[in-house]
Amino acid sequence: MRNWSHTVSFSSTEVARPHDLDELRAVVVGAERVRALGTRHSFNRVGDTTGTHVLLDAMPRHLEVSPDRTEVTCDAATTHAELANALADHGLALPNLCSSPHLGVVGAAQTGAHGSGVRQPALAAHVTRLELVDGRGELRTVGRDDPGFDALSVGLGAFGVVHRVTVRVVPAFEMTQTVHEDLAWDALLPHLDAVAASAYSASLFTRYDDRGVTQVWRKHRVGDPEALDLRDLGARPATETRHPLPASGTQDVTPQLGVPGPSHERLPHLHPGFCPRFGSEIQSEYLLDAARAVEAIEALRGLADRLDPLLAVAEIRHVAADDAWLSPSGGRDSVALHFTWQRLPDELAELLPVVEAALLPLGARPHWGKQFACSPRDLRAAYPRIEEWGALVGAWDPDRRFRNDLLDALLDG
Ligand SMILES: Cc1cc2nc3c(=O)[nH]c(=O)nc-3n(C[C@H](O)[C@H](O)[C@H](O)COP(=O)(O)OP(=O)(O)OC[C@H]3O[C@@H](n4cnc5c(N)ncnc54)[C@H](O)[C@@H]3O)c2cc1C
Repeated sequence: MRNWSHTVSFSSTEVARPHDLDELRAVVVGAERVRALGTRHSFNRVGDTTGTHVLLDAMPRHLEVSPDRTEVTCDAATTHAELANALADHGLALPNLCSSPHLGVVGAAQTGAHGSGVRQPALAAHVTRLELVDGRGELRTVGRDDPGFDALSVGLGAFGVVHRVTVRVVPAFEMTQTVHEDLAWDALLPHLDAVAASAYSASLFTRYDDRGVTQVWRKHRVGDPEALDLRDLGARPATETRHPLPASGTQDVTPQLGVPGPSHERLPHLHPGFCPRFGSEIQSEYLLDAARAVEAIEALRGLADRLDPLLAVAEIRHVAADDAWLSPSGGRDSVALHFTWQRLPDELAELLPVVEAALLPLGARPHWGKQFACSPRDLRAAYPRIEEWGALVGAWDPDRRFRNDLLDALLDG
C-alpha cells in the first residue's frame, strides 16, 4: 500500500478492514504493531507501521448533529468534502477547511492540518470529542474538558484508533473568492499583516523570485466589511479563473471572480467534485511565529534559485494559535510556508536541509503530514511539552502497539 503521491510504500504486512467496533478492538489487541490510516494524503511515514494497517472504510457510517446544532459527530472514514456536504443539508458548515476537501477529518486533525486566516486556528482546534480504541483494546471517549485532550487532538495516531470524532460547527454561511495578480514584494511586505487580515482566508502564491506574489487568493464572508483593496498595492484583479499553477486547467478549482456560494465550495482551493486518485507532487510546509514572517520570506527569497528547479509553487498562509501540545501552530499566531514540489524525492532530499537551515533558526516547525528532513532532536526542541506528550502516549499505549519509526525517534531519541 502506498500514500496518495506514491512516494511512500508502507511497511505493513497486513491490512485490516473491521466492520464494527468489536472487530476493530480485536484487530488492535491481536496485533503487535498496528496503526490507522485515513485518506493517505500525508507525504511522510507518520502513518506507517511494520504490523497491521487499519482502514476504517468498512465500519458503519455515522453522522449525527447535536440537538443544539453546535457539533457534529462522524465516523473516522469521513472526509471533509463528505462532512461539509452533509452539514449543508442541515444548514450548517465547518468553520474552515484545507486547500483540498478530500482529506480525512481525523487524519487532518491528527497531523495539525490547517486552512488559512488570521482568526482561523488549525482544524484540530474545532475537535471537541474523540472516541478511540486505545492500546489495550478499550474504547475510550475523551472530550475537550478532559485533562490531556490537547495532547490527543493533534495525536499523530499515537493514542489509538479513532472510531468517531466530534467537531464544532457553525451556521452555514456564504463566501466569495477573488484572485489578484502580481503583488510586488516591496508593496506587500510592509503590509503583510494587513493583507493577511483583509479576508476570512488569504493565500499568497509565489516562487520567491523577483516576480513577487503572482496570485493572492482571498475568501470573503458575504456581509463582512469591505476588504483592503489590493489595487492600492499595485496588484491587478484577475478577470478570469486562475489556477495556482498557470499551466494547469481551471476545471478543478473552486469558483472565483466574486461569485457567492456556500463556504465549503469557496474555502478549499480544489473543488469537492474533483478528487485526483493519485498526486504527482510532494508537499512540505513550515510554520513559525507570524511576527517572523517577513524574515522568513526574505530568507526564502535568497534561496529562489535553489528552489526553482524543484518548486511547482509555494503558498503563504496565516493560522491562528491553538492549544494542542504538538500543533505546529500551537501557542503562537503563525505564518505557514507551504511548498508544492515536483515529484522528485531524491533531489528533494538534498534540497530540504537547505530550506530548513534557513527556517528552523527562525523557530519553524515542520507540518507533521508533509515531507521534512530535520532531526528528531530539532523536532523535540520545537515542542516544549514533548516529554509530557510522550508520557501520555505511554499510558495510552503501554505495549507500544501504535509506535512506528517516526515516533520511536521522536520519543526515544
Ligand atoms: C492535495 C493535498 C492538499 C493538502 N492540503 C493541506 C492544507 O491545506 N493544509 C494542511 O495543513 N495540510 C494539507 N495537506 C496535508 C494533509 O492534511 C495531511 O497530510 C493529513 O494527514 C491528511 O489526512 P489523511 O486522512 O490523509 O491522513 P493519513 O495520511 O492517512 O494519516 C495521517 C496520520 O493520521 C493518523 N490517522 C488517520 N486516521 C486515523 C484514525 N482513524 N485514528 C487514529 N489515527 C489516524 C495516521 O496514523 C497518521 O499518523 C494536504 C495534502 C494533500 C495531498
